[in-house]
Amino acid sequence: MLLVALLLGVLQLAAQEAMTLPAADERYKADILVVVAHPDDEGAATPYLARAIYDEHKRVALVFATRGGSGGNDYRREHGSALADIREQEARQACAALGITNVWFLDGKDTASQNVLNSLANWGHGANLEALVRIVRLTRPEVILTWLPAVFIGENHGDHQASGVLATEAFDMAGDPVVFPAQVAGTSKRLEPYLENLTPWQPTKIYYFADASDDKQFAGRGPAYSIREVSQSQKKPYWRMAIDAAKPHLTQFPEALHQFSTMSDAELEKTMTDPEHGWWSEPMLLIFGKSTASTQPWETIFPDQEPRQKEPVATVEVHGGPSPRFENSSLKLELGDPWAFYEKFWLAHKLPQFKAAHGPEIAVKSGSIVGIPLTITREPRATHEITLKVNVPNGWKVVRGVGKFVLPDEERIYTRVELQSPEISEKELKGRAADGFMVSGMAGNELFGEVGLRVLLLSSALPQ
Ligand SMILES: [Zn+2]
Repeated sequence: MLLVALLLGVLQLAAQEAMTLPAADERYKADILVVVAHPDDEGAATPYLARAIYDEHKRVALVFATRGGSGGNDYRREHGSALADIREQEARQACAALGITNVWFLDGKDTASQNVLNSLANWGHGANLEALVRIVRLTRPEVILTWLPAVFIGENHGDHQASGVLATEAFDMAGDPVVFPAQVAGTSKRLEPYLENLTPWQPTKIYYFADASDDKQFAGRGPAYSIREVSQSQKKPYWRMAIDAAKPHLTQFPEALHQFSTMSDAELEKTMTDPEHGWWSEPMLLIFGKSTASTQPWETIFPDQEPRQKEPVATVEVHGGPSPRFENSSLKLELGDPWAFYEKFWLAHKLPQFKAAHGPEIAVKSGSIVGIPLTITREPRATHEITLKVNVPNGWKVVRGVGKFVLPDEERIYTRVELQSPEISEKELKGRAADGFMVSGMAGNELFGEVGLRVLLLSSALPQ
């Protein structure tokens, strides 16, 4: 009897039609996931995105880490949270103009500072990273494009850098099933409200773009895309498609948008590709981060569809970080955060090329106080008494942080030198070179470390 029952059971199973288990939702699959900080930041990549979307049929999704509420409203009277509500809509409309409808906003707060650590603290780093890893697993992108996590002379917004930090972390984490495991746990019953039934996802490549004033420094570090080239499908240059997509951002640059609307195509092209005043450089440069597949940094993002790029001539690299001549000293002097953070971050995320690419530099508002953060590492046998010195260029004054100090009995000590920068007129600031600072650490008569920083004074800049 038992045997007959078992046999009947097997026969029933064989006769039953196979049921399809649900697959991932293809409506949200992306080839390229762009991760930026603020509404309008997408503009840093739109000339390339226009090409990828309209001529290469790539699916693009966008993540804004903030809703951009702390800037000024140059269009109407709304501010604060109301402005953030408006900026979210402007960003959605700008993306829609390029056919991008999969747009997410994280919970980051717009932070007016050049220090990436201020932004990460103000955003709630952990919760937003978890949210971004979820979006990577949901959109399953081949490529992530994001802001360069580095300090340099330029707009250098801490929020931009923080979006690049989160995107880099998410690139390394989304494929790991033990990172945020509830996201990749299968549902245990039909309406299980906690487990997400996503799967781990490892994107193939990550590229960066930068808001540095001197973007020529990135030539050869990644693929270059012409913004003047005419889209085959749209019969318009890519810069034109990017400008058209920027039009909803009225609260950010209404005057420029109005001015553009009065210009002829030829005038506008001249303005847009002007190295001083244009929004993009020609060609637009991307910076290669890393790839899980074999590729060359200067190779195009999708080599099957995009023309091969020329191998660049090797560029001279500027080396930051402590000088090897102090390696044997029992005291070490290094630049502190955010520079110290990036030294560790690039190595932890296997991006050693950035360590070499950026000598320490920053731009600040003329007349503001400049802080040079320092880390002193002390071996137990080292002296406690040290002297810190700094050279003072013309017009600058030391506020605090130099002289004799007694170090606590600890391995790692943070301090900072603060300098008052001179007030210089806008006219005189034009073409002015950066001032070079060298902080030296002395133990008795012996020099144990030196750190350098280049500081460019501008008529306006974000607080350090
Ligand atoms: Zn921004």
